Amino acid sequence: MFEDDAVPVEKIDRNIFLTTVDWIYNWGRQYSMWPAMFGLACCAIEMIGASTARYDIARFGMEFYRASPRHADLMIVAGTVTHKMAPQVKRIWDQMPEPKYCLAMGSCAISGGIFKSYAVLQGVDEIVPVDVYVPGCPPRPEALFDGIRKIHQMVRAQSIKTVRWYGKEK
Ligand code: SF4
Repeated sequence: MFEDDAVPVEKIDRNIFLTTVDWIYNWGRQYSMWPAMFGLACCAIEMIGASTARYDIARFGMEFYRASPRHADLMIVAGTVTHKMAPQVKRIWDQMPEPKYCLAMGSCAISGGIFKSYAVLQGVDEIVPVDVYVPGCPPRPEALFDGIRKIHQMVRAQSIKTVRWYGKEK
């Protein structure tokens, strides 16, 4: 071994850190979530507002709303889900690859809201699994961010050894 190969102790202190695979994997996923680009009604206007310079969703690594669900890992259901639209919402969800998360934004997405109608689904969780509910009519961008942070917490709590999208063959 050459003398230069020896790593001085102070370099170890400054340049090396130890962590777990879960930590680094989840840290990367948390700050590179890509929402699917679609909105259903007035709540979508607040979701769009969250992407503007004033609210700056890019702070969370989420500036790209993906036009293809195959490139997205977060579905924000922002608006009223009619029975006519429900199959398309389900299809978007089914086309998203794992790992993926669903956030129901607003009263309509959560429970049908003010529309107790034959034409409106009484909650998007009738057709897709919802991870986080953000109440309001409409929720403000700050509330949406709170919901997104809850999804981040879910991501950080997951272990690569137990998540549902690995080891499906077992
Ligand atoms: S919850 Fe309110 S703001 Fe959101 S889609 Fe329904 S009616 Fe519109």
